[in-house]
Amino acid sequence: MNGQIIKIISNLYTVKSNDLLIGCHARGVFRKKGITPLVGDKVIIDPKNNIITEILERKNELKRPVIANVDIALIVTSVKEPNLDLILLDKLITNITYNNIEPVIVFTKLDLISDESKDSIDSLREYYEIIGIKVFYNDEITEIKKYIKDKLVVLAGQSGAGKSSLVNKMDSKYNIETNEISKSLGRGKHTTRHVELYDIDGSLVADTPGFSKLDLSTITKEELKNTFIEFNNYECKFKNCMHNKEKECSVKDAVENKKILETRYNNYIKFLEEIEWRLAYHL
Ligand code: ZN
Repeated sequence: MNGQIIKIISNLYTVKSNDLLIGCHARGVFRKKGITPLVGDKVIIDPKNNIITEILERKNELKRPVIANVDIALIVTSVKEPNLDLILLDKLITNITYNNIEPVIVFTKLDLISDESKDSIDSLREYYEIIGIKVFYNDEITEIKKYIKDKLVVLAGQSGAGKSSLVNKMDSKYNIETNEISKSLGRGKHTTRHVELYDIDGSLVADTPGFSKLDLSTITKEELKNTFIEFNNYECKFKNCMHNKEKECSVKDAVENKKILETRYNNYIKFLEEIEWRLAYHL
Protein backbone atom coordinates (compact mmCIF):
# COMPACT_ATOMS: atom_id res chain seq x y z
CA MET A 1 0.00 0.00 0.00
CA ASN A 2 1.34 3.44 -0.98
CA GLY A 3 1.13 6.56 1.12
CA GLN A 4 2.88 9.73 2.22
CA ILE A 5 4.15 10.70 5.67
CA ILE A 6 2.35 13.85 6.82
CA LYS A 7 3.40 13.99 10.47
CA ILE A 8 6.08 12.53 12.72
CA ILE A 9 5.96 12.46 16.51
CA SER A 10 9.02 10.72 17.95
CA ASN A 11 8.84 7.33 16.25
CA LEU A 12 5.20 7.36 15.27
CA TYR A 13 4.58 8.22 11.63
CA THR A 14 1.19 9.35 10.36
CA VAL A 15 0.82 8.12 6.79
CA LYS A 16 -1.89 9.41 4.46
CA SER A 17 -3.01 6.74 2.04
CA ASN A 18 -5.84 7.84 -0.24
CA ASP A 19 -8.17 9.34 2.33
CA LEU A 20 -7.02 7.22 5.25
CA LEU A 21 -4.66 8.33 8.01
CA ILE A 22 -2.65 5.41 9.35
CA GLY A 23 -0.33 5.51 12.37
CA CYS A 24 2.80 3.52 11.49
CA HIS A 25 6.18 2.52 12.83
CA ALA A 26 9.26 2.30 10.64
CA ARG A 27 11.13 -0.89 9.97
CA GLY A 28 14.27 -1.23 12.08
CA VAL A 29 16.31 -1.70 8.97
CA PHE A 30 16.08 2.04 8.14
CA ARG A 31 17.95 2.95 11.31
CA LYS A 32 20.65 0.40 10.56
CA LYS A 33 21.08 1.87 7.09
CA GLY A 34 21.09 5.40 8.51
CA ILE A 35 17.88 6.41 6.72
CA THR A 36 15.54 8.74 8.58
CA PRO A 37 11.97 8.85 7.30
CA LEU A 38 10.90 12.47 6.73
CA VAL A 39 7.61 14.30 6.50
CA GLY A 40 6.74 14.25 2.81
CA ASP A 41 8.33 10.86 2.18
CA LYS A 42 6.41 8.64 -0.20
CA VAL A 43 6.36 5.22 1.39
CA ILE A 44 5.11 1.69 1.04
CA ILE A 45 3.41 0.31 4.12
CA ASP A 46 2.37 -3.08 5.33
CA PRO A 47 -1.20 -2.21 6.39
CA LYS A 48 -1.66 -5.39 8.45
CA ASN A 49 1.16 -4.54 10.82
CA ASN A 50 1.18 -0.76 10.33
CA ILE A 51 4.82 -0.73 9.36
CA ILE A 52 6.62 1.40 6.78
CA THR A 53 8.52 -1.13 4.69
CA GLU A 54 10.01 1.10 2.03
CA ILE A 55 10.85 4.76 1.42
CA LEU A 56 10.67 5.78 -2.22
CA GLU A 57 13.35 7.93 -3.81
CA ARG A 58 13.06 11.63 -2.88
CA LYS A 59 12.89 14.29 -5.56
CA ASN A 60 14.21 16.88 -3.11
CA GLU A 61 14.86 17.42 0.56
CA LEU A 62 14.61 20.72 2.43
CA LYS A 63 16.64 21.38 5.57
CA ARG A 64 14.52 24.11 7.14
CA PRO A 65 11.90 22.82 7.73
CA VAL A 66 12.98 19.22 7.23
CA ILE A 67 10.65 17.99 4.53
CA ALA A 68 10.93 15.81 1.44
CA ASN A 69 9.31 15.81 -1.99
CA VAL A 70 8.13 19.42 -2.11
CA ASP A 71 6.38 20.13 -5.44
CA ILE A 72 5.56 23.82 -5.19
CA ALA A 73 6.69 26.79 -3.11
CA LEU A 74 4.10 29.55 -3.02
CA ILE A 75 6.06 32.81 -2.80
CA VAL A 76 3.67 35.13 -1.00
CA THR A 77 4.74 38.64 -2.01
CA SER A 78 3.00 41.78 -0.81
CA VAL A 79 2.96 44.81 -3.10
CA LYS A 80 2.70 47.11 -0.08
CA GLU A 81 3.09 46.89 3.74
CA PRO A 82 5.72 45.52 3.53
CA ASN A 83 6.75 47.09 0.21
CA LEU A 84 7.30 45.02 -2.89
CA ASP A 85 10.77 43.49 -2.58
CA LEU A 86 11.98 42.23 -5.95
CA ILE A 87 15.43 41.29 -4.60
CA LEU A 88 13.81 38.92 -2.12
CA LEU A 89 11.41 37.62 -4.76
CA ASP A 90 14.19 36.81 -7.23
CA LYS A 91 16.35 35.30 -4.51
CA LEU A 92 13.49 33.05 -3.47
CA ILE A 93 12.92 32.03 -7.09
CA THR A 94 16.62 31.18 -7.37
CA ASN A 95 16.69 29.16 -4.14
CA ILE A 96 13.45 27.34 -4.90
CA THR A 97 14.42 26.50 -8.48
CA TYR A 98 17.84 25.34 -7.27
CA ASN A 99 16.10 22.94 -4.87
CA ASN A 100 14.19 21.39 -7.77
CA ILE A 101 10.89 22.89 -6.63
CA GLU A 102 8.45 24.87 -8.78
CA PRO A 103 8.18 28.52 -7.68
CA VAL A 104 4.70 30.05 -7.85
CA ILE A 105 4.20 33.74 -7.08
CA VAL A 106 1.16 35.03 -5.20
CA PHE A 107 0.94 38.83 -5.02
CA THR A 108 -1.02 40.13 -2.03
CA LYS A 109 -2.44 43.42 -0.73
CA LEU A 110 -3.26 44.80 -4.18
CA ASP A 111 -6.13 46.70 -2.59
CA LEU A 112 -3.56 48.96 -0.90
CA ILE A 113 -2.11 50.43 -4.11
CA SER A 114 -3.27 52.92 -6.76
CA ASP A 115 -4.56 51.86 -10.18
CA GLU A 116 -1.32 53.13 -11.69
CA SER A 117 0.80 50.94 -9.42
CA LYS A 118 -1.59 48.08 -10.15
CA ASP A 119 -0.71 48.43 -13.86
CA SER A 120 2.97 47.97 -13.07
CA ILE A 121 2.18 44.85 -11.04
CA ASP A 122 0.16 43.56 -14.02
CA SER A 123 3.22 44.03 -16.27
CA LEU A 124 5.42 42.34 -13.71
CA ARG A 125 2.99 39.42 -13.63
CA GLU A 126 3.06 39.23 -17.39
CA TYR A 127 6.87 39.14 -17.44
CA TYR A 128 7.16 36.31 -14.92
CA GLU A 129 4.44 34.34 -16.70
CA ILE A 130 6.17 34.71 -20.06
CA ILE A 131 9.39 33.27 -18.62
CA GLY A 132 7.37 30.33 -17.32
CA ILE A 133 6.56 31.11 -13.68
CA LYS A 134 2.93 30.88 -12.63
CA VAL A 135 1.61 34.03 -10.96
CA PHE A 136 -1.62 34.62 -9.03
CA TYR A 137 -3.24 37.47 -7.17
CA ASN A 138 -4.49 36.52 -3.74
CA ASP A 139 -8.16 36.96 -4.68
CA GLU A 140 -7.83 34.09 -7.17
CA ILE A 141 -8.34 31.45 -4.48
CA THR A 142 -10.22 28.96 -6.66
CA GLU A 143 -7.49 29.11 -9.31
CA ILE A 144 -4.72 28.74 -6.73
CA LYS A 145 -6.44 25.73 -5.14
CA LYS A 146 -6.88 24.14 -8.54
CA TYR A 147 -3.22 24.70 -9.42
CA ILE A 148 -1.85 23.15 -6.23
CA LYS A 149 -4.25 20.20 -6.17
CA ASP A 150 -2.50 16.91 -5.32
CA LYS A 151 0.78 18.75 -4.74
CA LEU A 152 2.96 19.14 -1.67
CA VAL A 153 3.25 22.85 -1.01
CA VAL A 154 5.39 25.06 1.23
CA LEU A 155 4.83 28.75 1.74
CA ALA A 156 7.62 31.27 1.42
CA GLY A 157 7.89 35.05 1.60
CA GLN A 158 8.64 37.77 4.10
CA SER A 159 6.91 38.31 7.43
CA GLY A 160 3.64 40.16 7.12
CA ALA A 161 3.21 39.41 3.42
CA GLY A 162 0.00 37.53 4.18
CA LYS A 163 0.94 33.85 4.22
CA SER A 164 -1.52 32.94 6.97
CA SER A 165 -4.42 34.91 5.57
CA LEU A 166 -3.88 33.34 2.15
CA VAL A 167 -4.11 29.86 3.62
CA ASN A 168 -7.03 30.82 5.82
CA LYS A 169 -8.87 31.91 2.68
CA MET A 170 -8.19 28.49 1.17
CA ASP A 171 -9.37 26.65 4.25
CA SER A 172 -10.51 28.32 7.45
CA LYS A 173 -9.79 25.17 9.50
CA TYR A 174 -6.11 25.43 8.70
CA ASN A 175 -3.89 27.30 11.09
CA ILE A 176 -0.42 28.03 9.84
CA GLU A 177 2.15 28.70 12.49
CA THR A 178 3.91 31.58 10.82
CA ASN A 179 7.26 32.95 11.86
CA GLU A 180 5.73 36.21 12.95
CA ILE A 181 3.34 34.50 15.35
CA SER A 182 5.90 32.16 16.82
CA LYS A 183 8.41 34.98 17.21
CA SER A 184 5.98 36.99 19.30
CA LEU A 185 5.45 33.96 21.50
CA GLY A 186 9.18 33.35 21.74
CA ARG A 187 8.80 29.95 20.13
CA GLY A 188 10.69 30.68 16.93
CA LYS A 189 13.04 27.77 17.39
CA HIS A 190 10.33 25.14 17.53
CA THR A 191 8.84 26.00 14.19
CA THR A 192 11.94 25.04 12.26
CA ARG A 193 12.13 21.60 13.85
CA HIS A 194 8.55 20.51 13.68
CA VAL A 195 6.57 20.31 10.51
CA GLU A 196 3.21 18.86 9.69
CA LEU A 197 1.30 18.66 6.43
CA TYR A 198 -2.33 19.74 6.23
CA ASP A 199 -4.80 18.54 3.68
CA ILE A 200 -6.50 21.42 1.86
CA ASP A 201 -8.90 19.88 -0.66
CA GLY A 202 -6.35 17.29 -1.69
CA SER A 203 -3.24 19.49 -1.52
CA LEU A 204 -0.76 18.93 1.28
CA VAL A 205 0.43 22.25 2.71
CA ALA A 206 3.27 22.49 5.24
CA ASP A 207 2.38 24.35 8.43
CA THR A 208 5.86 25.89 8.63
CA PRO A 209 7.13 28.36 6.03
CA GLY A 210 10.26 27.37 4.12
CA PHE A 211 13.25 29.29 2.77
CA SER A 212 13.36 31.66 5.72
CA LYS A 213 17.15 31.72 5.86
CA LEU A 214 18.15 33.08 2.50
CA ASP A 215 21.78 32.84 1.63
CA LEU A 216 23.48 31.52 -1.46
CA SER A 217 25.93 29.44 0.55
CA THR A 218 25.96 26.28 -1.52
CA ILE A 219 25.05 27.45 -5.01
CA THR A 220 27.73 27.89 -7.69
CA LYS A 221 27.87 30.76 -10.18
CA GLU A 222 26.93 28.41 -13.00
CA GLU A 223 23.93 27.10 -11.02
CA LEU A 224 22.85 30.66 -10.25
CA LYS A 225 22.91 31.46 -13.96
CA ASN A 226 20.70 28.45 -14.69
CA THR A 227 18.05 29.57 -12.18
CA PHE A 228 17.54 32.74 -14.26
CA ILE A 229 15.65 30.64 -16.76
CA GLU A 230 15.02 33.39 -19.30
CA PHE A 231 18.78 33.80 -19.91
CA ASN A 232 18.79 30.37 -21.54
CA ASN A 233 16.89 31.82 -24.50
CA TYR A 234 19.95 33.79 -25.56
CA GLU A 235 23.19 32.64 -27.09
CA CYS A 236 26.24 34.72 -26.32
CA LYS A 237 29.52 34.89 -28.20
CA PHE A 238 31.29 33.03 -25.41
CA LYS A 239 29.74 29.69 -24.55
CA ASN A 240 30.45 30.13 -20.83
CA CYS A 241 29.42 33.77 -20.76
CA MET A 242 28.36 34.84 -17.25
CA HIS A 243 26.60 37.88 -18.76
CA ASN A 244 28.64 40.16 -16.55
CA LYS A 245 31.76 41.87 -17.90
CA GLU A 246 31.98 39.90 -21.15
CA LYS A 247 31.70 41.61 -24.54
CA GLU A 248 29.07 40.67 -27.15
CA CYS A 249 26.67 39.32 -24.55
CA SER A 250 23.17 38.63 -25.90
CA VAL A 251 21.69 38.69 -22.41
CA LYS A 252 22.98 42.23 -21.79
CA ASP A 253 21.65 43.22 -25.23
CA ALA A 254 18.25 41.79 -24.25
CA VAL A 255 18.27 43.87 -21.06
CA GLU A 256 19.11 46.92 -23.16
CA ASN A 257 16.24 46.13 -25.55
CA LYS A 258 13.85 45.59 -22.63
CA LYS A 259 13.34 41.92 -23.47
CA ILE A 260 14.78 40.97 -20.08
CA LEU A 261 13.50 42.85 -17.05
CA GLU A 262 16.20 45.17 -15.74
CA THR A 263 15.49 44.32 -12.10
CA ARG A 264 15.95 40.63 -12.89
CA TYR A 265 19.32 41.27 -14.47
CA ASN A 266 20.47 43.61 -11.69
CA ASN A 267 19.45 41.07 -9.06
CA TYR A 268 21.36 38.37 -10.94
CA ILE A 269 24.53 40.52 -10.85
CA LYS A 270 23.95 41.22 -7.16
CA PHE A 271 23.69 37.48 -6.38
CA LEU A 272 26.68 36.74 -8.60
CA GLU A 273 28.77 39.22 -6.60
CA GLU A 274 27.51 37.67 -3.38
CA ILE A 275 28.78 34.28 -4.53
CA GLU A 276 32.11 35.75 -5.71
CA TRP A 277 32.50 37.41 -2.31
CA ARG A 278 31.82 34.10 -0.58
CA LEU A 279 34.36 32.27 -2.74
CA ALA A 280 37.00 34.97 -2.27
CA TYR A 281 36.70 34.90 1.51
CA HIS A 282 36.04 31.15 1.78
CA LEU A 283 32.81 31.70 3.66
ZN1 ZN B 1 26.21 36.66 -22.00
